[in-house]
Amino acid sequence: MSDIFQKTKSLFDLPDGILYLDGNSLGPLPIAAAARVEAVMKAEWGQMLITGWNKAGWMAQPNAVGDRLARLIGAQSGHVVVGDTLSIKVYQALDAALQLRPDRKVILSDSGNFPSDLYIAQGLIQALNQGHELRLVAPEDLHNHITEEVAVTLITQVDYRTGRLHDMCSITETAHQNGALCIWDLAHSAGAIEVELAKAKADFAVGCTYKYLNGGPGSPGFIYVAPHLIDNIEPTLSGWLGHAAPFAFAQGYEPGNGIDRMRVGTPPVLALASLEAALDVWDMVDMAELRAQSIALSQLFIAEIENKCPMLKLGSPRDPNKRGSQVAFHFQEGYAAMQALIERGVIGDFRAPDTMRFGFTPLYIDQQDVRAATDIIADVMQNRLWDADAYKIRAAVT
Ligand SMILES: *Cc1c(COP(=O)(O)O)cnc(C)c1O
Repeated sequence: MSDIFQKTKSLFDLPDGILYLDGNSLGPLPIAAAARVEAVMKAEWGQMLITGWNKAGWMAQPNAVGDRLARLIGAQSGHVVVGDTLSIKVYQALDAALQLRPDRKVILSDSGNFPSDLYIAQGLIQALNQGHELRLVAPEDLHNHITEEVAVTLITQVDYRTGRLHDMCSITETAHQNGALCIWDLAHSAGAIEVELAKAKADFAVGCTYKYLNGGPGSPGFIYVAPHLIDNIEPTLSGWLGHAAPFAFAQGYEPGNGIDRMRVGTPPVLALASLEAALDVWDMVDMAELRAQSIALSQLFIAEIENKCPMLKLGSPRDPNKRGSQVAFHFQEGYAAMQALIERGVIGDFRAPDTMRFGFTPLYIDQQDVRAATDIIADVMQNRLWDADAYKIRAAVT
């Protein structure tokens, strides 16, 4: 293993005494991001005022950042654009896919999908009012339900609770054999595993940048559309910045060129500045190397926990090739146990009803950190340190 990860670790601002195993929910602060945002605020916003849109290239940022993201997800530049939030990007991809399959009414997803993706599908079905159906099946049965009724599969590649990893190539192939389109949600894939969108012939992909990619809280989502589809899409979220000529201020909408039409409104310039600093770290990283290191870390974690904490039951696939970069353990009092861990500096999170979730992020977590974390977890579990009233009061965000 190269020492690239020692280098990347030094580029993050991690509080002393914290073992951060929650980069799958919110990545930590890249040290350079604070200065970058300050520079954009003072030198660009402060001094350039409105001329920053041209002079500082703010208007081109969503495409420029999309191009930098493209390498991490196996896309070519020009096919990814950044903006809005992931939920909005799900809406756009689903709306586009349904337009491309007007004779089909089924949206196929799995019961492990993240609720926001399902809620967006439900809302879109209501808005379209054309008799579409959201069909949810067990993740392991997905393949068998890809039939000629299906317009589009809406699948999150890595399950947010269990870390279970869907095989993008084989599902996409089956979908295409049945005349269906595929949308891949990469929320827990981008920056976590190797993704090859172009090789897998994915039709659409969407994701967020504040999880493994470390863009910062509320940093924007992204969307990929396969180049052979984009020109046939008439966006329903037809905002002015997806228009062919926004500054012509014409009254009628005309979709922009290529992926530009998936833009909606004004780019979040400050958030993009922070994301750019995060991508400077990613520029050093080879995704195959990252994946190998992520597997080494999660395997070590599982072995140590199973050795020391028999009361915790593995909730993730045991085979690392069937798992993303996070590990779940079931424990009845998982919420209280996680609060006790957080108080001792091991930060993971809890997902109802009983899942304790830990993310492994080689950019700033190494084997020594994993060993230190498992020692603390063993202490909390073996000595029932979680069994205190204060740890059982649920906060708004778990
Ligand atoms: C994190 C996550 C979201 C969150 O969407 P936002 O619009 O960014 O809040 C949506 N879908 C999946 C699969 C996620 O993991």
